[in-house]
Amino acid sequence: MSRSTLEKIVDNLLKWYHREARILPWREYPTAYHVWISEIMLQQTRVEAVKPYFERFITQLPDVKELAEVSEETLFKLWEGLGYYNRARNLQKAAKIIMEKYHGKIPNSYEELIALPGIGEYTAGAISSIAFGLPYPAVDGNVLRVLSRLTGEERICSQTKVKREITEEIQKIIPKNQPGEFNQALMELGASVCIPNGLPLCHRCPIQKECFAFHEDRVLDFPVKAPKKRRVTQQIWVFFIINNKGYIAIRKRNQKGVLHGLWEFPSVICDEKEMSIFQILNKFGILKSEITTLEKGKHIFTHIQWNIEGFFVEAAEIKENSNDFIWVSQDELIKNYAVPTAFKKILEQGIELLKKNE
Ligand code: SF4
Repeated sequence: MSRSTLEKIVDNLLKWYHREARILPWREYPTAYHVWISEIMLQQTRVEAVKPYFERFITQLPDVKELAEVSEETLFKLWEGLGYYNRARNLQKAAKIIMEKYHGKIPNSYEELIALPGIGEYTAGAISSIAFGLPYPAVDGNVLRVLSRLTGEERICSQTKVKREITEEIQKIIPKNQPGEFNQALMELGASVCIPNGLPLCHRCPIQKECFAFHEDRVLDFPVKAPKKRRVTQQIWVFFIINNKGYIAIRKRNQKGVLHGLWEFPSVICDEKEMSIFQILNKFGILKSEITTLEKGKHIFTHIQWNIEGFFVEAAEIKENSNDFIWVSQDELIKNYAVPTAFKKILEQGIELLKKNE
């Protein structure tokens, strides 16, 4: 990676950013809290999708104290739809530490930030540079893509050693007077011009003159990616069960594995032992019922794909204390419980059938 190439981009990139930067809710008042929450939300989600979540979250939990003290149910409800709930758990763990150790003030040193749960090099760099004006790089997938095209990096960028080298090179050129703007300019270029899917918009790029991939006509050769790991496919049966009062059964998932500790409609992975639906319902303590098959669906996690079959079960006889369900009304379910996106289609179909039955 050539330092002179990198040095040449700084001015043009900053000018472009000052001209083109999108107006985003977290950029309006870039406090450490706002930068932190937005960066965690943005880790797996597009900017447009994050905007309403961010605004709702900040309105309801405007500071570290509120975040530290909120109940897990409310926190998850605010996070519902963003997925990867561990991010929300870590936000709260970190908020509690900030309350205890730093009297509610987010620490303004990179080392203290990176020691907090859920804050890695990227987020620590983003908070340090954007909120505190400290010259630390913030290298995410967008930045790696831009840099790999710019310099023609032939190695796999996501490898720790390569990423570290790129980060070190950026550290050398990051302007001391505008570190936050510089980091955001690189991120913004990667998100809106040097885009991940399809051809980058090189005709709009402020660093085209220096770009190796553009001049070599090899823009799609970079970044070099690691071979994809195969996803495991699982068949899952999900049961939208109602009792004779029209209350719906939900339960907490195990504390380990996919969606751990979150609320779900009772479900079973059915690729281990062959069981019939009736045997499963029996295990749930449902002795008599009417079953309607729901539309099939699928949900993709990072390493697993669920092929989902859903069943609407009107339970007529339920053995007491035979399961770990709680029964909630439709209103309670929607108002108070975060239903993971994987179960959203089952929820919609279940509610529709419930309404028809009324
Ligand atoms: Fe990306 Fe094209 Fe700009 Fe190069 S010229 S950094 S490939 S948008």
